[in-house]
Amino acid sequence: MTDCIFCRIVAGEIPAKLILETENVVAFHDLNPVAPQHALVIPRRHIATLDDATDEDRELLGQLMLAGAEAARLLGCAENGYRTVMNCKESGGQSVYHIHLHVLGGRPFSWPPG
Ligand code: 5GP
Ligand code: ZN
Repeated sequence: MTDCIFCRIVAGEIPAKLILETENVVAFHDLNPVAPQHALVIPRRHIATLDDATDEDRELLGQLMLAGAEAARLLGCAENGYRTVMNCKESGGQSVYHIHLHVLGGRPFSWPPG
């Protein structure tokens, strides 16, 4: 059994509040939301960090972004706008090492991030 939390969510071994599923990606609500709307979009296939992605993942990463936009529409934050973030490794603030796109909405976000 894998010890990757997000692989276990994909396998249905850990419950998650699903937003959408496609052949290659899954979007679900973050367990500890930092905004009124906070979704995570992940590939079904394990890729640890963005730094591990290769040219072969080009199509998958495009699907991840488009699923993020669709999740934002489904959550009702597309009209006002939203923030997408992918943290990479320690200095990027990544805590789960299975790539995921954060989709944050429902409040304004400042720039630069902390
Ligand atoms: P990171 O810090 O790696 O960019 O983001 C990881 C995110 O995963 C965090 O926002 C955290 O709240 C979320 N998370 C961690 N474990 C779980 C879980 O078991 N279920 C869900 N839905 N989210 C989780
Ligand atoms: Zn994984």
